[in-house]
Amino acid sequence: MSTPIERFREILRIPTVSHVDESLVDTVAFDLLHDTIARLYPRVHDELEREVVAGHALLYRWRGTTPERPLVLMAHQDVVPVDPTEWRHPPFAAEISGEGADAEIHARGAIDDKGALVAILEAVEVALADGVVPAHDVYLAFGHNEETAGDGARAIATVLQERGIRPALVLDEGGAVVEGVLPGVGVPTAMVGVAERGVMTLTLTVHQAGGHASTPPSFPAPARLARAIGRLHRHPFP
Ligand SMILES: [Zn+2]
Repeated sequence: MSTPIERFREILRIPTVSHVDESLVDTVAFDLLHDTIARLYPRVHDELEREVVAGHALLYRWRGTTPERPLVLMAHQDVVPVDPTEWRHPPFAAEISGEGADAEIHARGAIDDKGALVAILEAVEVALADGVVPAHDVYLAFGHNEETAGDGARAIATVLQERGIRPALVLDEGGAVVEGVLPGVGVPTAMVGVAERGVMTLTLTVHQAGGHASTPPSFPAPARLARAIGRLHRHPFP
């Protein structure tokens, strides 16, 4: 009988690395993660309705006793690429250093975001064993390419939307437990995010007539570009 820590470490050892160029993604790792989830969390696998969306995203439905709007618990399966030479511990070995309350697991994805993934799976597995039936439906939504702003979570959202499902509450990954970030706060602080950031990619191009460096224009192209960047910077996402 494995422990939650052992299950967590087993999942951390699977290198589900995202790449912007999806042809570089090792899909075998994602298949292995799916098989491992099925084996480590048999009640979740057998008792919830499970579907695979957009290749490797996972959507589970835990049926509730009423048709009220559901809860959606989210986490993502993927991690960002890693240069192992920059790590003191191998990124996919899930080594433990320290003992007792000071023990730490070192692995890519330990915080972002397999900690959340495993916490959700552990909680639901235990609840199923206890015979819990939720009042509302509970969906587990595990995207596979969050780190590259890929299509997994969006495809899941589309599936829910097409079925007319409008969640009452969606919980996704939040901030970490941080120290020394908030002025005047000297204790570890759990950061709760209440909104999600947006993502925007822009290409800025300046066109200007050529000339001679001895007689530069009064407002040359690099300065014009810098002004545009400055203007964007002064208008952050609300
Ligand atoms: Zn994340």
